[in-house]
Amino acid sequence: MAWCLHDAGEDFVVIDNLSTGFEWAIPQSVKLYEGDITDEKLLQTIFHNHDITAVIHFAGSIIVPESVSNPLKYYNNNTAASRTLIEACVKNNIKHFIFSSTAAVYGDPKVIPVSEDAPLSPLSPYGTSKLMTELMLRDTAAAHDFQYTALRYFNVAGADPEGRTGQSTRNATHLIKVACEAALGKRTHLGIFGADFDTPDKTGIRDYIHVSDLASAHYLALKRLREGGESIVMNAGYGDGYSVLQVIDAVKAVSEVDFEVKTEPRRAGDSPKVVADNSKIMSNLDWKPQFDDLPTIIRHALNWEKKLQFKNSL
Ligand code: UDP
Repeated sequence: MAWCLHDAGEDFVVIDNLSTGFEWAIPQSVKLYEGDITDEKLLQTIFHNHDITAVIHFAGSIIVPESVSNPLKYYNNNTAASRTLIEACVKNNIKHFIFSSTAAVYGDPKVIPVSEDAPLSPLSPYGTSKLMTELMLRDTAAAHDFQYTALRYFNVAGADPEGRTGQSTRNATHLIKVACEAALGKRTHLGIFGADFDTPDKTGIRDYIHVSDLASAHYLALKRLREGGESIVMNAGYGDGYSVLQVIDAVKAVSEVDFEVKTEPRRAGDSPKVVADNSKIMSNLDWKPQFDDLPTIIRHALNWEKKLQFKNSL
């Protein structure tokens, strides 16, 4: 997102506690405040130092199984911390807010592709922690001069096509990153978490979206709010579902490495199939995804993984 805003010539600052992020990941010219969004004093300093008109809120924890074993971490990092940030925005008269929500709010959707008005019934504390923030935003927007956009992310993958940044957090758990690590020999094998789902090849189906397309959706959502758009909640996905086996085959094809794969038990909190109905985002934003192609997503992820290997060995 920082690179997207930078490339568009926007003036912005970043706050990050660097718990999973890296200072090198943002453009050098961008001011970074290293700290936490629960630090009200720091937020006040930032709002005082800069003429902030909008906030794009990504801070939070994102691992579904970890949220099952440590739910209070998720209610703290994703829900309570968001409350502090939203309150600071209201106090400082910020009118535009964009929030990273998740398809996990749907749980195990009965109708696929899933649309925004489907029942909200998360299967994990991760999904619930994000849904609670969506509800806080809804109520805040009803009470104050404050408009928000919540983007319900499907499975974010890939990396900056120019190779400037990509997923770099250690001990990654997300499928495409883990599969790229396996292809590069950083892992001995890849585990398939459940091959007994009610899907054609019995493995879980997800809608993988390229991170750069997701960033451009945020930027368009910001422009829409600036132009007077009302608060809105939208799915951010391509509407294409791929099974774990299809992803593995694609990573093997792109990398030309036949890494070892083992079937393992299902993970707690995992849905069998989640694919976006993206008609709402398509009709509300002038969004033209540029990388909606699984091999392209994998190629970018793999290129980044190779770079990271080099970076980490320095
Ligand atoms: N998955 C898998 N092996 C892995 C990581 C993920 O089989 O090493 C499966 C997981 O069970 C799910 C899909 O891949 O069906 C996507 O999982 P991921 O953790 O990437 O994202 P999530 O959908 O949990 O947000």
